[in-house]
Amino acid sequence: MAKDNAPSSPSQQRMENIVSLAKRRGFVFPSSEIYGGLNGCWDYGPLGVELKRNVKDAWYESMVRHRDDIVPVDCAILMNRRVWQASGHEKCFTDPMVDCRECKRRFRADKVRMHYLVVDGKPVWHHAYEGDDPAGFDDISKSVRKSYDHLRNAHKADFDAGKATDLDCLVSQVPEGHARICPECGGELTEARLFNLMFKTFVGPAEDSAAMTYLRPETAQGIFVNFLSVLNSSRIKVPFGIAQIGKAFRNEITPRNFTFRTREFEQMEIEFFCKPGTDDQWYRHWVEVRKRWYLDLGMRPENVRFREHAPEELAHYARGCTDVEYKFPFGWGELEGIANRTDYDLRAHAEACGKDLSYFDDETKERFVPFVIEPSAGADRSTLAFLCDAYCEDEAPDEKGNPQPRTVLKFHPRLAPIKAAVFPLVRKDGMPEKAGAIYESLRKRMAAFYDDKGAVGRRYRRQDEAGTPFCITVDGQTMQDDTVTVRDRDAMTQQRVPAEGILRFLSDAMGL
Ligand code: ATP
Repeated sequence: MAKDNAPSSPSQQRMENIVSLAKRRGFVFPSSEIYGGLNGCWDYGPLGVELKRNVKDAWYESMVRHRDDIVPVDCAILMNRRVWQASGHEKCFTDPMVDCRECKRRFRADKVRMHYLVVDGKPVWHHAYEGDDPAGFDDISKSVRKSYDHLRNAHKADFDAGKATDLDCLVSQVPEGHARICPECGGELTEARLFNLMFKTFVGPAEDSAAMTYLRPETAQGIFVNFLSVLNSSRIKVPFGIAQIGKAFRNEITPRNFTFRTREFEQMEIEFFCKPGTDDQWYRHWVEVRKRWYLDLGMRPENVRFREHAPEELAHYARGCTDVEYKFPFGWGELEGIANRTDYDLRAHAEACGKDLSYFDDETKERFVPFVIEPSAGADRSTLAFLCDAYCEDEAPDEKGNPQPRTVLKFHPRLAPIKAAVFPLVRKDGMPEKAGAIYESLRKRMAAFYDDKGAVGRRYRRQDEAGTPFCITVDGQTMQDDTVTVRDRDAMTQQRVPAEGILRFLSDAMGL
């Protein structure tokens, strides 16, 4: 029952390939790598910065610029400690953790699952794994599966007679008499303890409790504490929203799965304030709006799901919550939560700071504390989801027309870090000058790249790996009739287009 080191499953292999491509092509690097890295922290490289910026820009454009009922704020990461006392984070922003008595590794108790094969009420086989749902047991390694299948077959008669059963549960729900073991080494796990996820820091020279505050664990509280300032300084009326993109910090117990769970990350959050009684309608509106956003940016519908929480899963103050989940190679994971938070946050802050955070409706002459709908998305998780969704392995013909394996990132053009690459076929006969001029004209309008090194087929492949939708080649014919070839990343077809109209052609083809 100890952890086995069997070869990785196809989905693990796929994730390894994505991580390796991300590093090789400059999307994401381990933070401070030359000093051995820092667990749970990652750096974005040149292509990664463009990709994540495009994700954030797409969010900002759709959620703020294209709506007249949302305004932005950009709050300080450090805030008065009282914010975190009033919001409940100082007391309750905790995760349950368990430790392995042997290897000393630490896990989130709500993420470790145990699978038992139980005969006559007694466990005859068990296995621990990390994941959110029992279906994760299907993705275990071949050798564990083999030993499980073997025993299950041996107990077939017991299963048929109803004397044997499978049990899959969280480690915190393990029944008495069943072992709780470490998913890494098979050692015994401790009881669960609560751990606060906020990073403490000190403002000013004294490191005492008076100077203590936290790095914000979410951007939302900055919005709530600015509700009055925004209301008083703009002409906006309820219903309206305040949006913010910014860094958040959580001392996660088990940062993992590449940039999925990190200790420093960026959020894209909206707090939408509405009149009580209209909250359910706005909640449904936001679930639809956010659904459309992911799908319009090309996320494959079969890889995204919208999971509405059951009433017993909701926080005590919440009236509804839908998680947007993506099917990563390591399993389904949350990209965003859309919650109806009622008037909980504004009331909590009003009580703690002693200020009136209610709203007076000029038209109906009513005063009320607005309800809040919160679509709260992660910029890094969305970026990772778009990267995984775009990743494809297929074949492309080489110089001689023979099919060769290729890796391609089929990003939606809006998200692609580079929109167009320009190549001279050879470095002579005026081709570099012509290609250079096209590149110069394009780069003023879109992220473009110039490459004159190596065979043109290899240059295409490098751009496929970067996810560039179009490659433009200046060749011998260009020098005669001023047309260029435009090669489509996905169809791998080429067509000739007048060099003069290339910008319009690309803009139309990409819908930019
Ligand atoms: P989880 O259950 O995965 O820890 P959460 O429900 O605590 O997430 P929220 O507090 O709702 O997350 O935060 C909103 C969004 O912020 C999440 O949907 C996710 O996209 C992002 N996010 C939260 N924690 C992290 C993290 N440690 N690393 C990267 N992104 C995160």
